[in-house]
Amino acid sequence: MSLSFHEFALTALRLCAWLVLLTALFVPLERWFGLRHETMGTGAAASHPLLGNRLAYYVISSLVPTVLLGVPVALLAAAAQALVPAAWIAALQACPAPLRVVIAFVVAETGFYWGHRLSHELPWLWRFHALHHSSEHLDFLANTRSHPVDMVVTRLCGLVPLYLLGLADPSLAGSATPAALMVLGTLWGFFIHANLRWRLGPLEWLLTTPAFHHWHHSRREHINRNYASTLPVLDRIFGSHYLPRHWPAEYGTDTPQANSLAGQLLDPLLPARRSS
Ligand SMILES: [Zn+2]
Ligand SMILES: [Zn+2]
Repeated sequence: MSLSFHEFALTALRLCAWLVLLTALFVPLERWFGLRHETMGTGAAASHPLLGNRLAYYVISSLVPTVLLGVPVALLAAAAQALVPAAWIAALQACPAPLRVVIAFVVAETGFYWGHRLSHELPWLWRFHALHHSSEHLDFLANTRSHPVDMVVTRLCGLVPLYLLGLADPSLAGSATPAALMVLGTLWGFFIHANLRWRLGPLEWLLTTPAFHHWHHSRREHINRNYASTLPVLDRIFGSHYLPRHWPAEYGTDTPQANSLAGQLLDPLLPARRSS
């Protein structure tokens, strides 16, 4: 499985292009509509991770989970081929494509919800997920500050039900669904982390917003609320919804993180070397 120079250059170009687009979109919005005037590189820099560290996570989270997921997803696809009854696939094929996409979306989101919730409730998963909560100032780039293991676990929780329910079957027109859901979810992730004081009224019932996810990043009391990536109704159903009119006073986590990038990535893998 070798990566040619051509593929490498294309990947690098794609990442740069996305970063330019995201920066051009969010930096002005955060400056004009920011909740606090602490966007990247200004103000309160003492507890703000260095820009290089943040950009490293942008690259890592864009590339590493996809590579790590290659083998598990191939195994999952093979298991789905063997386990999902042909009659069930035929029934899905008979459904209108838009309905299939909606079902796939809700199934994947429910999987992500539980993957995220377990990352808070199981200490061995929190070790990896705490990094994502270590940002003390939220902006769009905080979205990609995640440990690759954390991302792989959460994504698998979304993908497993999708494959095992036959919703990612190659014979369906919507077989690009898993990839499309990943891209859409990632893009929405930049929005809900953004430092934007917008409130969306009744739309807050339908979709997650910066206010919704910012409460999930509150330092202590409401960190175990609002797990959903895009559908807040999941938190209402599973009893974890919290969305008052005001905003959190403080972001971050009390779980200590290493200062260096290598330490942040390796510490959760080495129980004896937890640095403070
Ligand atoms: Zn979380
Ligand atoms: Zn987050």
